[in-house]
Amino acid sequence: MRCEQCRRKIRGRGHTSITGRKLCDRCGTRLHGRTAGAVAGGGIPGARAVSGWYARAKRAMGRRD
Ligand SMILES: [Zn+2]
Repeated sequence: MRCEQCRRKIRGRGHTSITGRKLCDRCGTRLHGRTAGAVAGGGIPGARAVSGWYARAKRAMGRRD
């Protein structure tokens, strides 16, 4: 199974995007951060802050990758 974003082999379970694309962990995380930014921040200016929030939330949940 390959990531449809960066074409690398997916290790582990990977991610499935809301559009059904198979993504590696890195691309999936980035996509989710961007999607959350678009929803919460209303566009690109808020995206960086939200991805920082996402990283903190992930650490708080005990996930490390
Ligand atoms: Zn990828």
